[in-house]
Amino acid sequence: MNLLLIGPPGSGKGTQGERLAARLGLEHLAAGDLLRAEVANGTPLGRRVADIMQRGELVPDAVILGLLMPRVLTAVERDGYLLDGFPRSVEQANEARKLAEQGGAAPDAVIYLDAPRDVLVERILARAEKEGRSDDNPETVENRLRVFDDATAPLVAHYRERGLLHVVDAAQDQDAVTDQILELLGVEA
Ligand code: UDP
Ligand code: MG
Repeated sequence: MNLLLIGPPGSGKGTQGERLAARLGLEHLAAGDLLRAEVANGTPLGRRVADIMQRGELVPDAVILGLLMPRVLTAVERDGYLLDGFPRSVEQANEARKLAEQGGAAPDAVIYLDAPRDVLVERILARAEKEGRSDDNPETVENRLRVFDDATAPLVAHYRERGLLHVVDAAQDQDAVTDQILELLGVEA
């Protein structure tokens, strides 16, 4: 099974992605985590994206596709992938689909984690204290939410039209969200 997990910052993509991937035996590919690892390791790619991420903008399509697609195709050779935080725009979705279709790697379902803005901001600011992510500061958070609205939110209609979309109320507690996703996938919790 191949799954996409999309949603605004703070909606719980990382938390749910980890749980679902473990439960379903999928490779968890967290786009933001992979980018942060490149930055932390000071790779050429990491040096190229550090400022962009610090501002909360999207890294260039070619960069993120180059990082993710080989991992996607490898995961598909095994039991499938759970891709968390990618795609971030309709353009990226179209590019990824072209590459994925050649490898039989198209997604089977898309889960959209939906939560009201005040819940998102509260969670991100709580996480900032614990994890110290440098883009969890108020200005960058505001820009990440704006980028989500402008670039990423149109994916909801895009995947709905393709009959792939499942909307989940991500303001529920973590266990309820996981259970609801497993149920909609037809998996025993
Ligand atoms: N990012 C990106 N493309 C992706 C995934 C992440 O450009 O496909 C960058 C972007 O700058 C984003 C940051 O990485 O603000 C952190 O992404 P992540 O998914 O970890 O965090 P979120 O803001 O969704 O909680
Ligand atoms: Mg994340």
